[in-house]
Amino acid sequence: MQLIGNVNTFMFNHFGAIDRRKYVQQLVTLRNSNEAIVSLLMSIKVYKSNKIKSALGYAYLKRDEIRLHPGLFDQDDILYTELEATFIHELCHHAVWKIYGNVDSHGIEWKYTMWHLGHEPEVTHNAPTRKYRQRKFNRDVEEILEQLSF
Ligand SMILES: [Zn+2]
Repeated sequence: MQLIGNVNTFMFNHFGAIDRRKYVQQLVTLRNSNEAIVSLLMSIKVYKSNKIKSALGYAYLKRDEIRLHPGLFDQDDILYTELEATFIHELCHHAVWKIYGNVDSHGIEWKYTMWHLGHEPEVTHNAPTRKYRQRKFNRDVEEILEQLSF
């Protein structure tokens, strides 16, 4: 297992300063979030793990760790998109844990957080086409807005 950095440096190195700033602002503006929570999120450690087989990433909530599949780091545009999607997916688990506590892992709070950060709230990232994904995303956003009660 290789330590890549914390969330703050990982976002700077992989997504750039502008996107990092955008994500920080989106995390701060989540319902019930605040700057102290976001600063804890930014200190979460990010690892490249060779032990990951059946998933692209894991969020170890109590250890403050995100572990990512090493294949995500290959130089490839499609994989690069997957790296960002997987990283944000796992980061949202940590955000939900710190802001909303022990709730369903892919429940309404997680979906809301993913949507707020501009990502499709999908458990896996292999929907067949972009058009399909966009339609599904729009549907999910409508459902989330209907169900929001926290
Ligand atoms: Zn998940």
